[in-house]
Amino acid sequence: MFQNKKHRIALISVDGDPAVEIGQEEAGGQNVYVRQVGYALAKLGWQVDMLTRRSSPEQAAIVQHSPNCRTIRLKAGPAEFIGRDNLFDHLPEFIREFQRFQQQQGFRYSLIHTNYWLSSWVGMELKKQQPLIQVHTYHSLGAVKYRSISDVPVIAVQRLAVEKACLETVDCVVATSPQEQKHMRVLVSSKGNIEMIPCGTDIDKFGEISRSVAREKLGIAPDAKIVLYVGRFDRRKGIETLVRAVAKSSFRGEANFELVIGGGSRPGQSDGIERSRIASIVTELGLENCTTFAGRLDDTILPFYYAAADVCVVPSHYEPFGLVAIEAMASKTPVVASNVGGLQFTVVPEVTGLLAPPKDEVAFAAAIDRIITSPSWRDELGEAARQRTEIAFSWYSVAFRLTHLYTRLLAESASNSRSPVAA
Ligand code: UDP
Repeated sequence: MFQNKKHRIALISVDGDPAVEIGQEEAGGQNVYVRQVGYALAKLGWQVDMLTRRSSPEQAAIVQHSPNCRTIRLKAGPAEFIGRDNLFDHLPEFIREFQRFQQQQGFRYSLIHTNYWLSSWVGMELKKQQPLIQVHTYHSLGAVKYRSISDVPVIAVQRLAVEKACLETVDCVVATSPQEQKHMRVLVSSKGNIEMIPCGTDIDKFGEISRSVAREKLGIAPDAKIVLYVGRFDRRKGIETLVRAVAKSSFRGEANFELVIGGGSRPGQSDGIERSRIASIVTELGLENCTTFAGRLDDTILPFYYAAADVCVVPSHYEPFGLVAIEAMASKTPVVASNVGGLQFTVVPEVTGLLAPPKDEVAFAAAIDRIITSPSWRDELGEAARQRTEIAFSWYSVAFRLTHLYTRLLAESASNSRSPVAA
């Protein structure tokens, strides 16, 4: 439908590089979202540029993913890792580089889709300098996040103000779950346009492998009981709750009962510190013999882990969406998740998995046990989870809905600029 139009659009994700390795510090769902949405939009005929900042001198300035999709890395501060909370002062440089890039290329983007609050500020500033449509996805809301942490960073005031201005002024904000949409209305502003379009997952990559093949590949016994966590090491992810739940499980002590924790970390960085903290809780509870830290799981091996597991646990304190849940579901593995945020939308309790109150290790232990006890119920939940993912959460359907949104906004802006009132 859009094959002849080839509109050029920019996905801006200053802090979340779509072309880097996923699964360690500050590289998670947002990076995956931008990359997969970019690929899928390009397949639908858009010319997609994904713009991010360069965070290492070795990184290529441009990565061409497919004929219509590339990552472009602009200078914004020194070419090194800078945590999100310290990036704001480098954004003006990103904007200057963005303008320079457009000039070099000889075009101006008519639509940008910004990701995370830092990029929303970039977009709002660009909008002052050139006509464009701005769509925004928050990925995480300061207004929600700061309620659940004790060490609120200095940047919080700025972030909250930018998030409010963004919702009230950009052309459309995309909420990835009804829960996130509600949080925006209640905690950010009653003004502004919101459309709910969920995140997606690769339903071909996840779900192809059977449990037995996956176990053989990973060297896991056919009768093992595997509880899986996948994600970054971050306190908000609630890994501690899962470890404590495993210690309380009635399967504890059984030879084939195992907790597998997948996710990368770097010593000395905040994820390395959280990993050490989790490892010491594992030791304190005497769970070393039944716990494996699998490290960062790349694209080639991750589908095997999901397929091999009996249950995937997402114990986050808060989750705006939570890609891991739908990746496991696409792999026919039921999910036990915290009863928060987007997890309340993706996981249907008693149908595709179970929900438990966040930080409640007793409830998590009971939920894990219920699924592990009954392989036939586990398989039923897994089948329903797969079906739900196919229907609601493929990247193709996400890109299709975004295409509708972009097309409508572009058409409205074209008709406004033609109308005598606007002229
Ligand atoms: N991930 C990965 N390898 C790992 C750990 C995580 O590829 O070792 C990916 C995971 O598959 C998912 C993303 O990182 O796509 C995490 O996204 P999610 O929305 O669950 O959490 P976030 O990191 O955004 O908080």
